[in-house]
Amino acid sequence: MIDLGILKGSSFVVLGLARSGLATGRALKAAGIDHTCWDDNAASRDAAVAAGLNVADTAGIDWSRITALVMSPGIPSTFPKPHPVAAAARAAGKKIICDVELLARAQDKATFIAITGTNGKSTTTALIGHILGEAGVRCEVGGNIGRGALDLAPLGEGGIYVLELSSYQLELLETFHAHVAVWLNITPDHIDRHGDLAGYVAAKENIFARQQVGDCAVIGVDDEPSRAVYAKLATRGIATVPVKLETPIAGGISYRAGMLIDADGYTVDFADVPTLPGDHNAQNAACAWATCRWLNLPRERIVGGLKTYPGLPHRQERVASVGSVVYVNDSKATNADATARALSSYHDIYWILGGQAKEGGVAPLAPWFDRVRHAFLIGEATDLFAGQLEGKIAYSRCGDLKSALDAAHERAQREAPRLSSGGGAAVVLLSPACASWDQWKSYEHRGDAFRAMARALPGAQVLGRAA
Ligand code: ADP
Repeated sequence: MIDLGILKGSSFVVLGLARSGLATGRALKAAGIDHTCWDDNAASRDAAVAAGLNVADTAGIDWSRITALVMSPGIPSTFPKPHPVAAAARAAGKKIICDVELLARAQDKATFIAITGTNGKSTTTALIGHILGEAGVRCEVGGNIGRGALDLAPLGEGGIYVLELSSYQLELLETFHAHVAVWLNITPDHIDRHGDLAGYVAAKENIFARQQVGDCAVIGVDDEPSRAVYAKLATRGIATVPVKLETPIAGGISYRAGMLIDADGYTVDFADVPTLPGDHNAQNAACAWATCRWLNLPRERIVGGLKTYPGLPHRQERVASVGSVVYVNDSKATNADATARALSSYHDIYWILGGQAKEGGVAPLAPWFDRVRHAFLIGEATDLFAGQLEGKIAYSRCGDLKSALDAAHERAQREAPRLSSGGGAAVVLLSPACASWDQWKSYEHRGDAFRAMARALPGAQVLGRAA
């Protein structure tokens, strides 16, 4: 836990008592700092009371004695409508911050690496943490991934915090300053919370705020909004490393699936790393590479870390193999965009999809249909997807995940030995392109079930972590 003793004498209101809010409350309490905690959800309030925190309705609070409101990034502070507590704090002229800001104030001698982007944040954060850890660097990984910022261990000078930061968290920073800021990409997302794309980009641009000479910005430039941000950075005087698909870029890193090329032509081939498939993961790897190079990590250490990266659960996670067929859990792919990444990474695919459909369904995935040997439909989206696949891909209506896996397994085992596309192992791929709510509690719940079922298949060899 982070020691917040440096803030003694302050008073905070903590709004939102899930993972990060509870950790904030506990850290404030441990440091003997005045705090009033609130969550609209009674069960969350009960958990905070059980943790010994001061829980009280903020309606009657005297804001004049409050230093700042520490808000859970999941709660709207502006769009679509500010939470009433945020509105009250603002009306009283109080700062609204998040737990990462408190971490930065308490650990002002440590080094901070911050990662943002629409896609690939968790992977890049975990990958940088893994490379640094393997190289023996003292580091902690958290923020939007894993542990809340104030649950991390105190590192002090020489220690490195690797933090995944969402646009919501980035809006709630005041003094935080990233020594290395990593910007992966931008596609329209969470627009409801930021008003429009410009608002979303502006929130994310806070990742570069307060960076100064000696700091570094690593930035993916494969989409138009990111290129505009890169152009603006050129005027700031900080080092910038652009990261680009395929084509070399001055002073930057280019990449494609399984390969990255450094600014001086140094090439890293990681095509044999099954946990980082596809162009999208090469972008993540290239950004991790640029970050670790900026920190002066020797190239061999970075390559070593890249090659032993274990991957994250539910993101093209290789969970088992039976014979030559590999079983892949991509339950995190809850929309067509994410599923496109998975389909583009394999050649002989037995594809399990369905659940609660998103707008457009799977129609945008047509460019990859020729890689699919058979589709296995589950959940509410079955009729919609059957219509979209009709005449393009052979499919079966399976109802639930277990039936789909059994049918995909049977067919893949029967056909795989005869396949000759030469594109690597055949895969049974759960990449639903759908939310999970119709049959599961969450995408994690769905992915955990798939992993357990695949590992229980006759003759299954466990791949990856034993999670
Ligand atoms: P985030 O934390 O930003 O949601 P993750 O690392 O958890 O990102 O990856 C989630 C999904 O996003 C992956 O399963 C993959 O489909 C897709 N993805 C990962 N990295 C990228 C990237 N660099 N560009 C585009 N899509 C990506």
